[in-house]
Amino acid sequence: MFGASLAWWLARGGTHVTLVDRFEPGDPRTTSGGESRLIRCGHGPDPHYTASARRARTLWRELEAECGEELLVECGLTWLAHRDDGWEARTIATFERQGIPYERLAPDAGARLFPSWSPDGLTFLLHEPEAGVLRAQRAVRALARRAVAHGAELVHAAARPEGAAARLDDGRVLEADVVVWACGAWLGRLFAEHVEIRSTRQELFFFDGGPAWAAPGVPAFVDFDQAIYGTRDIDGLGVKAAPDFDGPPLDPDAELPAASAAGEAIARRFLAERFPALAHSPLSGSKCCRYELSPDAHFVAGPLPEQPSVWLLGGGSGHGFKHGPALAEQVAAALAGTAALPPHFALGARGAGSFLRTAGAAL
Ligand SMILES: Cc1cc2nc3c(=O)[nH]c(=O)nc-3n(C[C@H](O)[C@H](O)[C@H](O)COP(=O)(O)OP(=O)(O)OC[C@H]3O[C@@H](n4cnc5c(N)ncnc54)[C@H](O)[C@@H]3O)c2cc1C
Repeated sequence: MFGASLAWWLARGGTHVTLVDRFEPGDPRTTSGGESRLIRCGHGPDPHYTASARRARTLWRELEAECGEELLVECGLTWLAHRDDGWEARTIATFERQGIPYERLAPDAGARLFPSWSPDGLTFLLHEPEAGVLRAQRAVRALARRAVAHGAELVHAAARPEGAAARLDDGRVLEADVVVWACGAWLGRLFAEHVEIRSTRQELFFFDGGPAWAAPGVPAFVDFDQAIYGTRDIDGLGVKAAPDFDGPPLDPDAELPAASAAGEAIARRFLAERFPALAHSPLSGSKCCRYELSPDAHFVAGPLPEQPSVWLLGGGSGHGFKHGPALAEQVAAALAGTAALPPHFALGARGAGSFLRTAGAAL
């Protein structure tokens, strides 16, 4: 996502771009290779990610217009708030400042949003009507395709750094005014002295909820405090429920294992509590994927201290997908020297822990 977005953005603006990928863009072994990713503006008190997600929505629409595909399913997204003074309340304050559309609803209103509903334990709902779900793998492929249509060259090869250049496994050495390494979970391995990226195993579960859960108006949902999120049935995959706490380490090159019974039990417990009719729905699918986590969940974007023409880009930390094209626009402006990136994107040591997806705690 990060590399393909930047290639698209730069090539669209007339820059000569070579996009190198060891796999096909959107390969399931990459973090961007899943079927769906949430897009929402809610980022608690953080103004930058909020504005970036909003800008990304516009750019996703521009990409859709270019490629003629529906990549963003604007079904809305509902945050399930357990407290009056938590993440959701802080998100509302940021939305007010930035003019982002939202509705603050009583817990009972969930009954008209979802086919099955229990308001137990909730204080209010924060509904983002213009949020939704991105068709992830298709979006990455569309970006790469459109980058090529704008003149970029797509090269299938594994690369490693060689000074300021990139050496490919076919023997070629690519030199450029700027080389950007946007290698997802592999970034921490290629540049261990500059960036810390943890690769973790995450699990996704899909349940057969019947036709009611495939209706276009059913929103995606996030329970920040209980660290779980999901979507309605999109493209016949089933209702998605995904525990969001950081999973155990998983090497970037390791085979993706099967999802666990323990993970399914967590997803089912949540569904039984919030969407009771789904409590015993058949599992229609499950899978593992990887987060590539920076220590503080902030993105990584910046030049190497000793080689200013070599940039690292990554650290999506389980929330990077939606920002792809907007982050590309920001990085392109930083490369051109016309705008600065947030200082906390810079390379170097970081403290642990801000929460930009959910509270990250197990149920
Ligand atoms: C289960 C799951 C759910 C998520 N949910 C959301 C969500 O709802 N919303 C959201 O916004 N984000 C979400 N994310 C996060 C988001 O998907 C990632 O942050 C984002 O996709 C990261 O993209 P990337 O380009 O940095 O990494 P990747 O997609 O891994 O891309 C890295 C690329 O580099 C290539 N590469 C690596 N090494 C080399 C090399 N040596 N030579 C050549 N090519 C190389 C790879 O082939 C790959 O194409 C989720 C992530 C996961 C795993």
